[in-house]
Amino acid sequence: MTLVAIDGPAGAGKSSVAAGVAARLGLERLDTGAMYRAITLASLRAGIDPADGTAIAKLLTGSAIYVGEQVLLDGEDVTVEIRSAHVTAAVSQVAAHPEVRQELVARQRAWAEHRRGGVVEGRDIGSVVFPDATLKIYLTASTEERGRRRASQEQRGDAATWAAATELENRDQLDSSRQASPLVVAPGAHVIDSTKATLEEVVEQVLELLPCTQ
Ligand code: C5P
Repeated sequence: MTLVAIDGPAGAGKSSVAAGVAARLGLERLDTGAMYRAITLASLRAGIDPADGTAIAKLLTGSAIYVGEQVLLDGEDVTVEIRSAHVTAAVSQVAAHPEVRQELVARQRAWAEHRRGGVVEGRDIGSVVFPDATLKIYLTASTEERGRRRASQEQRGDAATWAAATELENRDQLDSSRQASPLVVAPGAHVIDSTKATLEEVVEQVLELLPCTQ
């Protein structure tokens, strides 16, 4: 079983790199951030306070979340809505609840078990979800570059870079300082700084790090 874990701060390019690596290895990929975003959306719609971990975990138990090319919440396509500003603003608070993480981690492990591997991206994949992953990557980039990429993804001009960088930094701060599974460089992870690299270069770097027995 080949399992590649890709962690790192927001906007470092994890999704693009995970997609590139998965395609080259013929594996499926899982964006675990989309799972946290989907349950955040469900909680907001249900009027649950993002601080109420017990209520969110209860809602999650009965919520079907599918993450593939599209993201489905109880069968409804929420691919675009989970990226909206109100979900982004609440997701780190929702993701900080241990009872929410416990359930989503179980689903992530089941996903990989079922496929006998995959490329999984998030914040705690190498540290908590799959500590025995075949390869662990911690992907990072300068805050300014991450803000610039995020703003251009959203087809906004240079003026938006600073605002995007501030949002990413706030989220990183919450994700790194929480008690439950904070964003850390997992033991044994290879740190790749993508600030000056192209997507293709980063994908190559990751593939070169794969143990050749796999
Ligand atoms: O990857 P993305 O930026 O979409 O993730 C949204 C949020 O979900 C992160 O800021 C973090 O709070 C949470 N998350 C997490 N653990 C993961 C993946 C995402 O806590 N494995």
